[in-house]
Amino acid sequence: MALATKRLLSIGILTILTVLMLSRPLMGQALPELKPQPLPASLAQVAVGDDYADRLQTTPVGALLWTQFPVSVRIDLADSTDARAKVWQEAVTQAISDWSGLIELTQTTAAADITIRRASLPLRRLADGKLAPVRFADTRFEFYNQDGRLRHRMVITLSPTQADRSLLSGARHELGHALGIWGHSDRPTDVMYSSQVAQPPQISDRDRATLRKVYTQSTRLGGSFPKMP
Ligand SMILES: [Zn+2]
Repeated sequence: MALATKRLLSIGILTILTVLMLSRPLMGQALPELKPQPLPASLAQVAVGDDYADRLQTTPVGALLWTQFPVSVRIDLADSTDARAKVWQEAVTQAISDWSGLIELTQTTAAADITIRRASLPLRRLADGKLAPVRFADTRFEFYNQDGRLRHRMVITLSPTQADRSLLSGARHELGHALGIWGHSDRPTDVMYSSQVAQPPQISDRDRATLRKVYTQSTRLGGSFPKMP
């Protein structure tokens, strides 16, 4: 199966918006086989229960799950030295800690599987020429070929101008996407709800059960590219 042409698909509403992006380098290339992966031990302990996995997006590579652990995360402050950079960094560090009981994460200063950038998102125009609502966060992925295997990396952009109390919930939400929950919950009591709410929730049992289910799904990620005949 070959990747289709570059596609932009917006999911989510209001302040949190996620963009699915297929990378050009892999277009037209035969992809690895779709295969289930071993369930990480930390997720095997999560209770199977009510989840929203049926609301998630499908991708040409199957589930967007990580196949090598720990998953490395780099916080990119973009050389910012303002006082609020520390608040931003603390929120992001807390979000990493919140998810790390479910997926093994490690922080690095080198190139990473997941990069979390402190940067503003560009304004965009809608089809009618009006400016789209300001966005405070987004998560994108791209694919690459590492020694003959299909890998992905995620880049989260989290705005420096977001209100402090929204920073943590925003970071938690986007990290949920980066770990594989590629879509949104329909309930405001879940971290992966599509909008920011007045009382940001902790990672819920439904979020956990959904992440677990994602990791039981098949993926082409981590697989070897077929040899050319
Ligand atoms: Zn989202």
